[in-house]
Parts: sequence; C-alpha cells; structure tokens
Amino acid sequence: MTLSALERARYQRHLSLQEIGVAGQEKLKAARVLIVGAGGLGSPAALYLAAAGCGTLGLVDFDRVDVSNLQRQVLFDSGALGHSKAEAGRARLAALNPEIRVVAHALELKAANVRAVLADYDLVVDGSDRLSTRYLVNDACVLLGRPLVSAAIHRFEGQIMTYVPRRGPCYRCLFPQASDGVVANCAEAGVLGVLPGVLGTLEATEAIKLITGIGTPLLGRLLTYDALELRFHEFRVARRRDCAVCGDAPTITEPHDPPAAAAREMLDGVRRLTPHSLQALLEPRSAAPPLIDVRERWEYDTGHLPGALNIPMSELAQRIAEIPRAGGAVFVCRSGGRSMRACTIALGAGVASPANLEGGLLAWAAEIDPTLPVA
Ligand SMILES: [Zn+2]
Repeated sequence: MTLSALERARYQRHLSLQEIGVAGQEKLKAARVLIVGAGGLGSPAALYLAAAGCGTLGLVDFDRVDVSNLQRQVLFDSGALGHSKAEAGRARLAALNPEIRVVAHALELKAANVRAVLADYDLVVDGSDRLSTRYLVNDACVLLGRPLVSAAIHRFEGQIMTYVPRRGPCYRCLFPQASDGVVANCAEAGVLGVLPGVLGTLEATEAIKLITGIGTPLLGRLLTYDALELRFHEFRVARRRDCAVCGDAPTITEPHDPPAAAAREMLDGVRRLTPHSLQALLEPRSAAPPLIDVRERWEYDTGHLPGALNIPMSELAQRIAEIPRAGGAVFVCRSGGRSMRACTIALGAGVASPANLEGGLLAWAAEIDPTLPVA
C-alpha cells in the first residue's frame, strides 16, 4: 500500500522516524484493527490509531452515549448524547482522518458473531468493561490466531498486557477462573476520568508497535499503573500448559458465551424485561409488581420510577424481608448490572420469579421517558 502525497504530508513526523519511515507507515495503512468497546479505553486508543493512519479501524459498541460517559470517553462530545457510540465514534474518527476507513459495529460481541466480526481484522484492542466480553475476545483471538492488546481500569488503577498467540501467555493463563456475570462497572465503582486515557494510549502504542514490528511488546508482562502513587509495576507471567484455551490440551475449542451462573439463573427464574415490557407491567398501577431500585441513595434521589422502593445493594441482604415473596418483584439500577445481581440474591432468599430491567434506567430513559434524570 503506497502513500499518497497527502498522506506523506500528514504522517511526516512518522516518516522522519527511522524506525517507522515509509515502510512502517505503509504497514499502518494496510493494518486492520478492531477496537472492542468505544468507552474510556477505546476512546483514546481509537483517536490515536486513527491519527496514526491505521488504515482500517473497527469500533464495536452496542451502547449509546450517556452524559456520564463524557467525563472520560473523549471520543464523544455533548452533541453525541443519545447517539450510538459506534456510529458517533465512526463520525469523529472520519473527521479526524478522512484517509482511513472506519467501520461501526453497533452490536454486542457474542459467541455467535465474534468469528465473523474478527475475520476482517488483523489485531484486536480490547477496552471492554465486561469480564465476559474480555474472556470471549481472548478465546476468539487465541483460536483465530489474532494478536490482542487488552487493558482494564478500576478506580485509580489500570493494567495492560499484550497477547500474541503462540508467543506468550493469554488472558486466561493470567486469570484462569472466569467469574460469570457482570463485573462492577464504572457507574458503581467510580473511575478517575484521565485513568483510561493513560491505559488506552498505551494500548494504541502496543498496537502500533505490533503493526510496524518495532520495539518490545508487553508479551508475558503484565504492566500495572497506580495513578495515586504515579507508579508502574511489571509482573512476569508465563503461559500455562494447562490453560483452557492456549494450553497443551485445550478444552475451549470454540468461542462460547459464559452461560454458567448468569444464564443458568435466568433459566432458573430470573425474568429479563425490556423497558417496554416493564412499562406494560406497570399499568394499571394497582396491579403493578413491587419495584425495587438497588442504586445508591444519591442516585435514587436524582430521579427514579414512581413507586420504586430504594434498597441499595449494600443493604439488600439486611432488608430482603421488605421485598414481597410473591408478586414478581422487578429490580432496577442504572444499567442493569447491579439489579441482575440483586435478582440472584432475591431468588436465593425466596423471592419468587424476580425480574431484571435489562439495560437499567438508562434504557428506560432512552426508550420510554427521556425526562427521567438518571445519575
Ligand atoms: Zn492461555
């Protein structure tokens, strides 16, 4: 892939680097990188890879831009509120660099589609905030032989590692036990806004190094970052011969969704409600099921559904008796993660047929009532 005169001008500072030069820039132009999650990590990674002239960039995200994202997701501005992250991100990257091709994948990566999505890309950058997606992407990359740069953030800390199949350990070698369901997300745990900026930029750095073949990638080295102490640490990690996906006798030979606990519990009696199906249940009000809002008090006070009882997750165990055993209590939170765990706890405590509002109050506000303030 040769560079046009315009591209030579745009990437002049890269061409001046002996290590990159025209040959490296042409590799970048030919590269096809998939970014999983257009959030805090995916934003800076996508912006820098687009600016660097990465020829094809794919953005996977099924979410929409929420005002609380803007504290750290620098791919979006206030004008993108309510828009698809994949689409809004594509528009922003196309404006930044019209020389590249950006593909929006407004979907949730699942076992059923991960092969098809990854097939068009040479390298994957994972910035997903879901543990289940992290394992799915890792397994798919190992099975399809795709290099993967993976980072994660929590409050003031982050970590990053690069996985190249057959050249080092994979994510599962590091964390063999996949805990199922939804990990605490930024809405619950909080995150320093600039933190994903550091980790996402490191992800872009690793991607550029892998594509151009320069430097030493983070293979078998887990790099951690502590923003409060401003310290980086490095941990050596070896490939596990008994790894379920990249080991000597792998038991995972196809990407799979982590059904285990989460899905089994759903089959066992947790109902999943869309905003529209919940709206139908709430009419008439006299026959509506108990509605339990498991967010923190301040979130509840910002705005809640009429008649919702506030029992924060931290108080759920002690206050479980306040929830009627019958009547199919409906649990809600901001985005559906905490309320799903609340359903599981309630089910275990004898509450029959609890229901979860999928997508939480953010989905409700998007589909039913845009005037509902969601903290
Ligand atoms: Zn492994």
